[in-house]
Amino acid sequence: MTIEEIKTLLDLRSDTSTLPTQSMWEAMSKAVLGDGGRVDLTGRGEDPTVYELENLAASMLGKEDAMYIATGSLANHTALLAVTDRGDKVLVERSAHIYINEKFDFLSKFSGLVPIFYHLDSNYQISPKEIEYLIQYHDIRVLCLENTHNYSGGTCLTPACTAKICELAHNEGMHVHLDGARIFNSAVAQHVDVKELVAPVDSVMFCLSKGLCAPVGSLLVGSKDFIEKARAVGKMIGTPMRQAGIIAAAGIVALKENVDRLAEDHKKAKRLGELLSVIDNAIMDPKADQTDFVYMNVTPTGLTAQQVTDALRRKGLLVAKMTDESIRLAVHKDISMDDVERAAKIVIDFFASLK
Ligand SMILES: *Cc1c(COP(=O)(O)O)cnc(C)c1O
Repeated sequence: MTIEEIKTLLDLRSDTSTLPTQSMWEAMSKAVLGDGGRVDLTGRGEDPTVYELENLAASMLGKEDAMYIATGSLANHTALLAVTDRGDKVLVERSAHIYINEKFDFLSKFSGLVPIFYHLDSNYQISPKEIEYLIQYHDIRVLCLENTHNYSGGTCLTPACTAKICELAHNEGMHVHLDGARIFNSAVAQHVDVKELVAPVDSVMFCLSKGLCAPVGSLLVGSKDFIEKARAVGKMIGTPMRQAGIIAAAGIVALKENVDRLAEDHKKAKRLGELLSVIDNAIMDPKADQTDFVYMNVTPTGLTAQQVTDALRRKGLLVAKMTDESIRLAVHKDISMDDVERAAKIVIDFFASLK
């Protein structure tokens, strides 16, 4: 498909397709820039706008320092490289983005870490019993958490669960890294300060480029010591950018203006889930519709997720194929409530036509 053709379709594939807001364009055009890759005098790059973004992110999350990195995946790799050696065991959820999408950290060709899997329970939380059991049998270096959890439908880990699991990990001297690509969605959905959600973890990555609507970038946040190690690793794998203030400026606007707005996305996703609940030849869990996604397991149709995705595209709707069995519909700033109603109608009609 050409980009022009894609633009004629209703696109519910991802919250990454949000375009910059007017105030972001204005901030970008006025951003004060410097050489962010030059670390000889400051030890940290010389782009003042990147500094401002990093300081803002650290203070919003209640941590000491932060590092602006081009993508969330690269920030996750940087974090794990900073605190592991090849062959170390990492406790990770079976369908974690870091494991099934990014892969890098667990491939012998790259970081060569060894995954030890835990699971989420039916409420999308982690069982302390399972973690205690796994810790008993393995010498584990790092625990990875994901909040919100993408492949479970954008579900939230509670502050209580996070604190309990971190306590167990810390008792064994592990580092806890949180893949918080959508940590602000989780905080907004649970009506808690993001600081409370991330207080028990040692490092957290979050994305500016998803529901927060910035065009580019993620932050890796943690203690001064941790970020110092991460910067040293980053230099080796190419995270420093030169005049990145031009995009960091949009990130500052994202954090100042777009966090509370995520509640609107959650409302739209909830509405979408409610509309789709009339469908009886797909498996959905209304309990999982906590943030900006609706997931559908399409196995009852006898079709694969790819076939359903292709069929919906021919009807004018783009959705994301996530696994062989499941599709995801995502909402964001540029999807209106009317779009939600329109998308629901296309999906409902299609599933009805299969019976
Ligand atoms: C999007 C995402 C990432 C990676 O972010 P990119 O900027 O796309 O590399 C990591 N974890 C989760 C859960 C994500 O959804």
